[in-house]
Amino acid sequence: MNNNGQPSILLIYTGGTIGMIENPETGALLNFDFDQFQHYVPELKRLHLQIHSYTFDPPIDSSDMEPKHWVKIAQVIADNYEKYDGFVVLHGTDTMAFTASALSFMLENLAKPVVITGAQLPIGKLRTDGKENLLTSIEIAAARNSVGEPMVPEVCIFFESMLMRGNRTTKINAEGFNAFRSYNYPPLAEAGINIKYDTLHIRRPNPDAPFRPHYSLETGIFILTLFPGIQKEYVEAVIGMKNLRALIIKTYGSGNAPQKPWLFEKLKELDSRGVILVNITQCSKGTVEMRRYETGRLLLQAGAVNGYDGTMESTVSKLMFLLGQGYSKDEILPLLNTSIAGEITIPEE
Ligand code: ASP
Repeated sequence: MNNNGQPSILLIYTGGTIGMIENPETGALLNFDFDQFQHYVPELKRLHLQIHSYTFDPPIDSSDMEPKHWVKIAQVIADNYEKYDGFVVLHGTDTMAFTASALSFMLENLAKPVVITGAQLPIGKLRTDGKENLLTSIEIAAARNSVGEPMVPEVCIFFESMLMRGNRTTKINAEGFNAFRSYNYPPLAEAGINIKYDTLHIRRPNPDAPFRPHYSLETGIFILTLFPGIQKEYVEAVIGMKNLRALIIKTYGSGNAPQKPWLFEKLKELDSRGVILVNITQCSKGTVEMRRYETGRLLLQAGAVNGYDGTMESTVSKLMFLLGQGYSKDEILPLLNTSIAGEITIPEE
């Protein structure tokens, strides 16, 4: 809150279409400049909030995002944590779901909203989706419940009309405005005439623990996507990688793999080398159940752990996070079967 009792929001522009402003005369796309931005979005003033901005120098297309950029975003949030009531991160859509997932692990016990948004069309384009996404994200980041607590103290993505838990999202549309989905977890809020929050599904921080940012990530990870006709040489090349710490296996259906003895042997070899194997499904919706079919049981015997209904994006960033904390394989395996930031659903026994 500022001295006038207005909630304060820090807008962090990392890059991407939303912050590009089209010059209506020349059609050229210019990079983010907050003063220009306010000119194209005069509605910002009507929110009656104190909004400050922080811009990445240089701003980056999200296809160029690396874990070091996630660290930078986390640092900006942590450095300004006490000063602001909420944070809105403007980000390219391409890897937004990875960044949202990573931040959800890195910002432990977050008690303030971090809303990530972007756009398919730049601000300044007549039909831009950026304005709606921006204004609603800011409104959500500033929203308080009846006892004055933030409505959504989570890392989330707002896009089109949906607020989703960040580590449950996937980009599903390269063209349409409705570009993100959370297939395995309900939306946290829906914006229509009013913004309707689903308070039962929103995470709350532990009031007795502090906010703890983490900045170490380890990237020795690879994803093996199965397909009919997969060749032994291809798998061997992946497995031969030096410094491989974890392999995500993108399996069929409820976590199934072909019953090829060589595949089983190769995976078993990796497991005994200390590499972590995680089984996630190629399906967008639903969960891995490795005991359901013989073809899933084989992976279990090879040492793979269940990645449940985790997205590829959250499984990648969770592994980078856990490895980055310096945990051993034995410490990581149980954590992969624990929801640490609301990223997976563990079925009741
Ligand atoms: N390639 C752009 C990016 O992800 C697309 C976008 O901004 O949506 O940064």
